[in-house]
Amino acid sequence: MTALFPFDNSYARLPDRFFKRIAPTPVEAPRLVRLNRALAEDLGLDAVRLESPEGVSVLAGQHVAEGSEPLAAAYAGHQFGQFVPQLGDGRAILLGEVVGRDGRRDIQLKGSGPTPFSRRGDGRAALGPVLREYLVSEAMHALGIPTTRTLAAVTTGEQVIRETVLPGAVLTRVASSHIRVGSFQFFAARGDVEGLRALADHAIARHDPAAAEADNPYLAFLEGVIRRQAELVARWLTVGFIHGVMNTDNMSIAGETIDYGPCAFLDTYDPATAFSSIDRHGRYAYGNQPRIALWNLTRLAEALLPLLSEDETRAVAEAEAALSGFAGLFETAYHGGLNRKLGLATTRDGDAALAGDLLKTMAENGADFTLTFRRLGEAAPEAGSDPEPAAIEAVRSLFIDPTAFDRWAERWRRRLTEEPDVGTARRQSMRTANPAFIPRNHRVEAMIEAAVERQDFAPFDTLLTVLTRPYDDQPDFAQYAEAPEGGGRGYRTFCGT
Ligand code: AMP
Ligand code: MG
Ligand code: MG
Repeated sequence: MTALFPFDNSYARLPDRFFKRIAPTPVEAPRLVRLNRALAEDLGLDAVRLESPEGVSVLAGQHVAEGSEPLAAAYAGHQFGQFVPQLGDGRAILLGEVVGRDGRRDIQLKGSGPTPFSRRGDGRAALGPVLREYLVSEAMHALGIPTTRTLAAVTTGEQVIRETVLPGAVLTRVASSHIRVGSFQFFAARGDVEGLRALADHAIARHDPAAAEADNPYLAFLEGVIRRQAELVARWLTVGFIHGVMNTDNMSIAGETIDYGPCAFLDTYDPATAFSSIDRHGRYAYGNQPRIALWNLTRLAEALLPLLSEDETRAVAEAEAALSGFAGLFETAYHGGLNRKLGLATTRDGDAALAGDLLKTMAENGADFTLTFRRLGEAAPEAGSDPEPAAIEAVRSLFIDPTAFDRWAERWRRRLTEEPDVGTARRQSMRTANPAFIPRNHRVEAMIEAAVERQDFAPFDTLLTVLTRPYDDQPDFAQYAEAPEGGGRGYRTFCGT
């Protein structure tokens, strides 16, 4: 019989000090909540077999699959600005890597028992956060935003103790890799230049093969990470995503969104929004995310200094030059994204101000971020067809003072007249830039409550189905596009649960 996972484990071939070999801890009574069949197929895996008792026992950590070399990776990281020289996979275990349709992917269990890096943690995960990660990561993927993905969620039949007693679960995470900024910091903090170089070479082979050909491969690698992160954070902002815990150990050098702990989407637009209960000073607030990404990348550059040049002054100059590219890369990606959201196919002076003024007006008027942009699409003039008055009313009514929107919309319409003739394509193209469906916090919470309190997974299935097609009008599910009462202010999320 062929292997359940055709593992090819490149990380496990790195030096011993990169990780600790550790098998998942078996659980009491594994039960599959859901397998992501589409993802299984992309990875070249047999979905039917993964759903069978044999597959579920692997996905729950009962049984180590053939070819797996389970390990917990070592890493360090800045948590809320404070450096911790040793973190590591405290409740995640890498089973191995498979090469699927889109390239090499890590297959990792999250919540599969303690590891040498667990510190005071129990190595376990609760069902609620597992379902949340499944849903939000798959929603991000459907939105077209680079992200780790979820192959499966299983319940363990065991209880985990948090503030209350909760059902336990294990999530199977799929990632281009789990190499983080903190992975480099781990070696840099120990003065282990050989380890640093081995990690960088591994990362380049995996994520930036072209960098290997550059004059200075490590500098080219740093530039690649900077570019990916600038583009990623710009994408987050254009859908109202708040990561919530952008510690350097939660920043993937592959440029994927990773660590769905306290993340949440904005309802009412307010750039100062920070949902995480432990983010008291708003360090990771919505509007701070580009600044924090650059701060984290600066930590990466510092860690890489010994590789950039033997001459320290030169290394610092190279690092600074690379970091100075971040602002431009971010601005280009962000304003490009906003222009698409406004239905602008070309770029002109004044576009950034036009978009910025809409956002400012939204913030001043308590407007829902997602609804405003989605409805703006229906209110866009097209060749030979003015929008329905009801479509315009649907946007302006989202503003406490609708005339504030009117004043902005007049400028927008004038700007649209400077666009080349797009025929009747504008509303449709705006639909593809402005999702109707995001994981609304009140829906996610209701889904978790149904699963945890009543073992009712129907809301999870429904939400997942809706969020898999975020840009399509789904009239049967119109209520899932609606904003919560009160605009979602005061919502709180929690990490490490
Ligand atoms: P996070 O804030 O999710 O990035 O986690 C920070 C660190 O805490 C990482 O090293 C995690 O592996 C670890 N950690 C989080 N939750 C647990 C847990 N329940 N048991 C053990 N380690 C954990
Ligand atoms: Mg983490
Ligand atoms: Mg986490």
